[in-house]
Amino acid sequence: EERPGYMAKRIVLADPRGFCAGVDRAIVTVQTILKTAHTPRPDGLPPVYVRRQIVHNKHVVQELADQGAVFVEELAEIPDAAAQAGIPVVFSAHGVSPTVQAEAKRRGLNIIDATCPLVGKVHREVQRFVKQGYEIVYIGHKGHDEAVGVVGEAPEHVHLIEHVDDVPKLHFDESQKLALLTQTTLSIDETADTIAALKQQFPWIEEPASSDICYATSNRQAAVKLVAEHVDVMVIVGSANSSNSVRLMEVAASALGDTTRAHRVDDASELDDSWFANAEAVGISSGASVPDSLVQGVIEHLQQLGFTDLDTVAGAGENMHFVLPAPVRAMAASL
Ligand code: SF4
Repeated sequence: EERPGYMAKRIVLADPRGFCAGVDRAIVTVQTILKTAHTPRPDGLPPVYVRRQIVHNKHVVQELADQGAVFVEELAEIPDAAAQAGIPVVFSAHGVSPTVQAEAKRRGLNIIDATCPLVGKVHREVQRFVKQGYEIVYIGHKGHDEAVGVVGEAPEHVHLIEHVDDVPKLHFDESQKLALLTQTTLSIDETADTIAALKQQFPWIEEPASSDICYATSNRQAAVKLVAEHVDVMVIVGSANSSNSVRLMEVAASALGDTTRAHRVDDASELDDSWFANAEAVGISSGASVPDSLVQGVIEHLQQLGFTDLDTVAGAGENMHFVLPAPVRAMAASL
């Protein structure tokens, strides 16, 4: 029975969410290679190898693997026959260190580099600063593919720190030129604290003209904060190894003021109905590597639980697009 002022339980979607331009470019790169390949090959080789997860989402990787892409952790897993046959080997959106580049060259692999141009920019900043005699403080997550690639540009000169607590552990003389760079997918707020501490300890530290935290990361975090104002609980769709997805969950938890009200799931199957038992409104967003079909699955599940109204809170508009790597543009033109 409807009461006056009755409102259905509702879902509030964050916009923008999901795919960024770098992820889209990386996925389309592998898809285009798959579409133009003649399979099965008589030599039994796959149409394409991909080093590491092309983007940090297990559904995306599984789908491309189902279409024939072979994912490897290291180039050493790729047989020499693949080099001789010119099978494309794709570097993931997160980029690689010069050591990996050199190994690929030495082995004569047919490399197609799907490193996001915004990650590539950080690599070039490292090269430029090191050439000019700087030491670099890099805020990032140890072991994350992107951080490994960037630190690998100059391991002797790039000092990785993760948290504000790491700042006092750094020691530099005032005569030492210092530069500050960051991973592209950090939390804006958390990084601001770390940067403030760095500037206090090393007032002469220099930053690049524009932040390394990319447009997609900042827009998605800002949108999550807007949504949090209207909801009791938030669900972030994204894989556990996706840095920007995990940051979105942390931003949601902090905006809601309660870590038990923000949840990250890979897909609808990981939802726990008890999270929504007392909620009137549930917010949803997704990381930059997440196909929207996975968000749709979460929406459908919540609709079954009675969250039948659907609103969108719009943050920054996005129209970023990156051209495909040159060899892939040529392939796409032949389709
Ligand atoms: Fe590029 Fe940002 Fe997307 Fe990473 S999150 S792939 S840096 S656009």
